[in-house]
This record gives sequence, C-alpha cells and structure tokens, in this order.
Amino acid sequence: MPVYEYEHLKEPCTLGKVFDVKQSIQDKQLTCCPRCLEPVKKIISNINISCPKSNSELRDLGFTKLVKCDNGVYENVTARGRDSRYMVKGKPETIPDLSKTIRD
Ligand SMILES: [Zn+2]
Repeated sequence: MPVYEYEHLKEPCTLGKVFDVKQSIQDKQLTCCPRCLEPVKKIISNINISCPKSNSELRDLGFTKLVKCDNGVYENVTARGRDSRYMVKGKPETIPDLSKTIRD
C-alpha cells in the first residue's frame, strides 16, 4: 500500500507535525488526524515524479499533446510526420493517426 504524508493544520499531536499514513489508492484522503482528530491536509509529494517538459520530449516519449487554440480547434504540438497539425472538432480526418504512431 502506498504511504501518504499528512500535515497538521493546527497544533501537532504525538504523531508529529507531519506523519505518514498507509492507505489504499481507493481510500478517501484523510481530513482529520486519526489520533487527535485535528484537521490535516495531504501533502503532495513530488518525489519520483518526473514530468517531461518540452513538446519534443513528449513526442519522443510517444505522447500526443493537444493545445486548444480556438473554439473546437486544437493544435497538435507533437505532430509527427504527416500528422495534421490541427484537429478540428467534427473533422475526423484531422485526428492524428495513432495506429501509425504506435507501430513506429
Ligand atoms: Zn494529530
């Protein structure tokens, strides 16, 4: 089970200001400390989360990134080869050919 970190919003109890709780992914996040029942908040840990930043990194990893640029129009900033650069709502021919991308 993953371990989540929570922080007391008020005075910490014997668990300490920040404490770890083992929770299943399906569990709701805690809003109060299991020991002192004071309000707590979940700390979003950014350890081990690496997120590619640039569009070319995303493309190299096989992602398709769409940027909304107009009402119903999306720019495919990771367009490969002959992919359409723009996707227009209601025009399926402008959707990137993912089967080709996956074979690549
Ligand atoms: Zn507590």
